[in-house]
Amino acid sequence: MRAWILDDPEQLRLTEKPVPQPGPAEVLVRIDAIAFCDGDIRIITRGPPALIEGGLPFNKNFTPGHEYMGTVVRLGLGVDEYAIGDRVAVEVHFGCGRCERCRAGMYTSCLNYGMNYGTHNKGHRANGFTTDGGFAEYAVNNVNTLVHVPDGIGDEEATLIVTAGTAMYAIDTLGGLIAGQSLVVTGPGAIGLLSVAVGKALGARPVILTGTRDSRLELGKKLGADHLVNIKTENPVEAVKRITRDKGVHYVIECSGNPNGLSDGMDMVMRGGRICLVGFANEPVSVDVAKLVRNHISVFGIRGEGRSATHRAAALVAQRRFDAKLIHTHTFKMEDVPMAFKYSRERIDGAIKVVVKIRET
Ligand SMILES: [Zn+2]
Ligand SMILES: [Zn+2]
Repeated sequence: MRAWILDDPEQLRLTEKPVPQPGPAEVLVRIDAIAFCDGDIRIITRGPPALIEGGLPFNKNFTPGHEYMGTVVRLGLGVDEYAIGDRVAVEVHFGCGRCERCRAGMYTSCLNYGMNYGTHNKGHRANGFTTDGGFAEYAVNNVNTLVHVPDGIGDEEATLIVTAGTAMYAIDTLGGLIAGQSLVVTGPGAIGLLSVAVGKALGARPVILTGTRDSRLELGKKLGADHLVNIKTENPVEAVKRITRDKGVHYVIECSGNPNGLSDGMDMVMRGGRICLVGFANEPVSVDVAKLVRNHISVFGIRGEGRSATHRAAALVAQRRFDAKLIHTHTFKMEDVPMAFKYSRERIDGAIKVVVKIRET
């Protein structure tokens, strides 16, 4: 099969690899489409959080890419959950299934992360992070990582189901959102925009979105934001206070990665409020811990899309509760992965989700 591999940092090369074979409880997925994610950009330029054979992912014949969807074309031993021809989106993480975190459904935080080689083989897989990913014609996936693509959902949109799954997992981690509770989402990237959409679909009110680009904020409105705050023209904390009449909100999902994100979130939530950090700053930040304690504020960090959140997100997509297509902005051919990478990284031409069609239709 044709597959892109990562040589040195930022050096992607199209090559030939053998088609992988599905083992027990696995299927072979013919990849139809794959989206670029900020995680891919980080891996391709710097390496982590990819972990291949215990180290950096460079020059190891490693194929990146994790936000893919496709068609089941071969079944491993004992698979009856899926049939040949089924269209599927995939979760990124398949944990080892034997550590404490996996056993609790937190398989995105598997304690045997990257342990899938040599004598360290505990069976962990995170395609595009610790095992081969989706910038290729085929990939093997455990059935636990598959989600049926709802009827009528196109290939490009289906690549976004796992992104919506991450938004859902953020809400799960906050403790679940009850209709009528209020939500601030900071940062209108792909996960932020879909956090708005999922929050709204679950009945959050109001949903407030903060960001710096009016075009992205407007997308947030189409996905369900009741209020938009451009932080270039208004202080986001004051805006949230104004909108909530000084009460503050129940939840903040921090997707901006801004160094002030946590601190601002602490001033946006009401007492007893909860903050989930999805984005993260690249350097350590200091916060007023006493304020957290005095106000009984809980802070969570999440990774990926655990506890089968992707299935719940797919249910919302199937019910057309929001239009994930809105954040898909560009499509490239398989030969043009480096160009797609460039568009995604540099946000050329307003790029949000850049999709590569592996299979021409
Ligand atoms: Zn991703
Ligand atoms: Zn595990």
